[in-house]
Amino acid sequence: KAKAPRLPAHLKTKIPTGSSYTKIKNDLRGLNLHTVCEEARCPNIGDCWGGSAGMTEEEGKKNATATIMLMGDTCTRGCRFCSVKTSRAPPPLDPHEPEHTAEAISRWGLGYIVLTSVDRDDLADGGAHHFAETIRKIKHKAPQILVEALTPDFRGDMDAVALLAQSGLDVYAHNIETTEAMTPFVRDRRANFRQSLEVLRHAKQAGRNTNAGRGVLTKTSIMLGVGEQPDEVRHALEELRKVDVDVVTFGQYMRPTKRHMKVDRYVEPPEFDKWKEVADNMGFLYVASGPLVRSSYKAGEYFIENVLR
Ligand code: SF4
Ligand code: SF4
Repeated sequence: KAKAPRLPAHLKTKIPTGSSYTKIKNDLRGLNLHTVCEEARCPNIGDCWGGSAGMTEEEGKKNATATIMLMGDTCTRGCRFCSVKTSRAPPPLDPHEPEHTAEAISRWGLGYIVLTSVDRDDLADGGAHHFAETIRKIKHKAPQILVEALTPDFRGDMDAVALLAQSGLDVYAHNIETTEAMTPFVRDRRANFRQSLEVLRHAKQAGRNTNAGRGVLTKTSIMLGVGEQPDEVRHALEELRKVDVDVVTFGQYMRPTKRHMKVDRYVEPPEFDKWKEVADNMGFLYVASGPLVRSSYKAGEYFIENVLR
């Protein structure tokens, strides 16, 4: 039996720092928001919440990103890399969640919010109305907050995709997670590489006239180190460009527990740099690539600086 590779030094996590980190953490108390950043003990929390060196607390907060989980903590799917709980019948949605979440987010006052959710294949619309309603309410209360939605595939229901793409969000994210060849070994059997590409294509098209004509940006993420081959990664990037995806991120797959699939290998930082260069040359608007990069990594800072303003 092959031994799992050892964790290299570049993946050991740092203690969060940064002038706005403590402030944002204190502000969160009492808002009753569940951030993936804290609950998944994301190693990037210092970077995402702390702002860059030289920023004041206020600047840090405006550039900060947090990821909020909607629609409960129980998923109807079971991807082999993911530590979220699974059930065929999760508890019903909280009908007050859109209002409460929007209120809390507007009081918190960060510049950039990522909303994500479990997959709710038990619901007729996959939760699309609930998700879209949350975005509409956030934009109503605090139009200056940039909103990214990291969405399920809604089983390929393009009406659900369009509803979200036209809800007022700024960035429509849906993760392909891995290459076409590796998809059956990594994602839940109901997920499908082609279907995910169609979701991204449709989101871009349906959202093209929103946000005062700027349209929505589309974004996806790829985990490296699950057994993918370089030509498969290149192929995935080409397919993403064909459906006009704007932003791609690359990160290292990390095994959440022994029950999850093994890490095939730890990818060295220069290889992440190489993928950034390859993707930049293919015309993506923005590429983030590094061992600890996650789909939402410092999204606020890079979108605000490079893309949206
Ligand atoms: Fe939160 Fe995402 Fe940043 Fe992690 S990468 S701290 S989950 S916003
Ligand atoms: Fe995790 Fe998303 Fe897969 Fe559900 S669909 S198991 S939340 S990655």
